[in-house]
Amino acid sequence: MSLPSVLISEVGPRDGLQSVSRTMPTAAKCAWIDRLFDAGLREIEVGSFVPAKLLPQMADVADVVRHALTKPGLTVMALVPNLRGAEAALAAGVHKISIPLSASEAHSQANVRKTREQALQDLRAITALRQERYPGARVEVGMSTAFGCTIQGTVSDDEVVWVAERAVAAGVDEVGLSDTTGMANPTQVRRLFNRVRAAIGERTGAAHMHNTRGLGLANCLAAFDVGVRTFDASQGGLGGCPYAPGASGNVVTEDLVFMFESMGIATGVDLERLMAARDALAAGLPGEALYGMTPEAGLTKGFAYADGRHPAAERLLNRIEKDCA
Ligand SMILES: [Zn+2]
Repeated sequence: MSLPSVLISEVGPRDGLQSVSRTMPTAAKCAWIDRLFDAGLREIEVGSFVPAKLLPQMADVADVVRHALTKPGLTVMALVPNLRGAEAALAAGVHKISIPLSASEAHSQANVRKTREQALQDLRAITALRQERYPGARVEVGMSTAFGCTIQGTVSDDEVVWVAERAVAAGVDEVGLSDTTGMANPTQVRRLFNRVRAAIGERTGAAHMHNTRGLGLANCLAAFDVGVRTFDASQGGLGGCPYAPGASGNVVTEDLVFMFESMGIATGVDLERLMAARDALAAGLPGEALYGMTPEAGLTKGFAYADGRHPAAERLLNRIEKDCA
């Protein structure tokens, strides 16, 4: 019997670093990605292809992509806001591009200064480019404000389903749902993913949850319960616009991995290595607040991974082997 498993998509180098005003040096970004990869993460969103004028933090994205592409078995992802960004990202060789598309009309106009219809038109241009020149690349939509909007307030389920269907009709491979504003609750998460899956089936993508009001993990679990198997998270909870001190924006990767592994759901991630990777993040952004309960508390006594590996026992065994050698 194979273990239940999930894919953790690390978004810290993109979602995290673009919401910090300081710029992490390129070498530090690459060193951090090395450590995330060594911890077992196999999908990393490494940056955004946006004009350096708008986001100087991402000016070196092509160099970071080039480095990430040297990692065997790593899916290298980048966010692109428009066709020009998609052209640059695909030319740089990313495996997967993620395009934000707002569920809320008000958010779409405020955030990207496009109506949803215009954004969908751009999407069609991007999938046409993929079709023509980069047939191996994957195109994903991250539907922002799917669970509520700070401008418009409530976003109806029907709107979300409509946007998801239109995105699929525009030729994208996957549509994930993002709780951009930290407004989701588990009941809503179950209901909405069920409705989106009923509409677009296997093209239903990742859950991108925020921990703004402390419900990030609960919302991830709710999404898991209704069949979601890819989860975005950020090391140290970096990014995602936290509103309150002590509450991270993005779901903390360390806590999410701990939750799934201790439930017997495999992530492929080594938690001790993952927690140690925080050093690389801290070295690149000295003094930046890092969140996470598991890194604070440490692993539980007797902690075992979903696949039965037992870090404390392995360490003991290594020591005995060394002593006897
Ligand atoms: Zn986020």
